[in-house]
Amino acid sequence: MRDVAVIGAGLAGAAAALRLRDAGLSVTVIEARGRLGGRTYSRSLGATDDYWELGGGWICERHARMKTLAARFGIGLRPTLPIAERRWHDGQALRTDAPVAADKLAAHLQGLQAVRADSLAMQGGSGRWQGDNPWATVSFADYMDAKGLPETVRREFIAWWTLSGSGDITRVNVLDALHCASYYGGTMEATLEELTHTFEGGVGTLVERMIAESRAEVILGDAVVEASDRDGHASLRLSSGREVTAQQVVLAVPVNVIDTMRFDPALRPAQAQLAAEKHQGRAIKILFHVRGVKPGILVTGEAEGLRWMFSERSLPDGSTLIIAFGLYDEVPDTCQATMERAVQRFFPEATLLSHDWHDWIRDPWSSGTWVSHGLGQSPLFAGPEWAQKGRFHFAGSDIATNASGWFEGAVLSGEAAADAILAAHHP
Ligand SMILES: Cc1cc2nc3c(=O)[nH]c(=O)nc-3n(C[C@H](O)[C@H](O)[C@H](O)COP(=O)(O)OP(=O)(O)OC[C@H]3O[C@@H](n4cnc5c(N)ncnc54)[C@H](O)[C@@H]3O)c2cc1C
Repeated sequence: MRDVAVIGAGLAGAAAALRLRDAGLSVTVIEARGRLGGRTYSRSLGATDDYWELGGGWICERHARMKTLAARFGIGLRPTLPIAERRWHDGQALRTDAPVAADKLAAHLQGLQAVRADSLAMQGGSGRWQGDNPWATVSFADYMDAKGLPETVRREFIAWWTLSGSGDITRVNVLDALHCASYYGGTMEATLEELTHTFEGGVGTLVERMIAESRAEVILGDAVVEASDRDGHASLRLSSGREVTAQQVVLAVPVNVIDTMRFDPALRPAQAQLAAEKHQGRAIKILFHVRGVKPGILVTGEAEGLRWMFSERSLPDGSTLIIAFGLYDEVPDTCQATMERAVQRFFPEATLLSHDWHDWIRDPWSSGTWVSHGLGQSPLFAGPEWAQKGRFHFAGSDIATNASGWFEGAVLSGEAAADAILAAHHP
């Protein structure tokens, strides 16, 4: 019997395994997919030495644990380029001079200012947890109606939502979107300013190195289907029929796939409710490899459902990577012709070489992108609901009490689960 079984080899599981093995415990990591990393996914970019980040890519200045881990595992941090040029698609035309035509500019700026005021009111606060905020029970869509925002501001606000929170605007609370802009002065562009670094060599490499360094036994391509805490130990049944027993279990899987496992004893009512309802994160992230585009150009608007694009960096051969976000349900398809039209709308000067993405919504081991709270769902994520339950310790970015939704939250929650086990082991 192992000291600890860790379910899920994403950043949370890797951080837990590393800390437990650093303390000398025997650990088995069980991962449903045939690869490590979870919602980090760094895939080779054609014949180059570079990677696409199909999952998460950025960290913020304040993400101290991720920075420390990158340094420990020899992964360089690449600063995000500042915005060198701004373009807007106002529904009719691509504009480079101003977000909208002159006759609409005053209403547009007034609308942005109204959003900015609500955003700044959240500054320093705890985002989606601000229950006393007047907008705490209002959906993103209803907020825009209540404020009477002009179409041009709505388009802009939703564009930024695709990378800050994502999710159906009628089903999510508006606080996440307002809170994102509350950093750096309450502008929507602040959302990008906040994303200060990416990882050279890919963030997926970091997870692989963490798990290798942990020297944990790793079971790949075998999902846990049943988890029981009976008779003085934890017992996990895998889809292959294999059984793993352990003294303690770290459960580090996305909230949206917990319902694929059967628990004995059953989960708490709030956990079961959230597992059934699922969080609302439904973004689509597409990466384009193009020629003819300068790095540092940011475009917002709407192109085949994609609403936000940034020419992120150039490669040694002079080609450029563009990163694009949209709401999953708005993108008709991702075939070459559709994606070519999308890029052309925002970057008429581009020649599309290739594009890549991963379908996180249909992926059975994520069933969603990063966490986005549905209206009224926040109490289901509250810390006490996900506290240790018998031999089960819950971790993962979705339920992290700090930096939830981010890599940083995954690491902090994985380390916290490990610390709870170590405290009981070595009181
Ligand atoms: C497109 C996209 C863009 C993002 N952008 C950013 C960003 O720029 N910055 C940022 O900080 N965050 C970003 N995120 C969020 C970030 O990637 C996640 O919050 C974080 O990686 C989650 O880590 P985790 O370990 O909690 O979960 P996961 O990485 O999802 O790991 C959970 C693991 O559990 C496995 N698993 C599931 N069920 C079972 C089972 N039954 N048995 C065994 N294993 C199982 C899964 O296969 C997975 O490997 C993004 C996410 C996506 C999808």
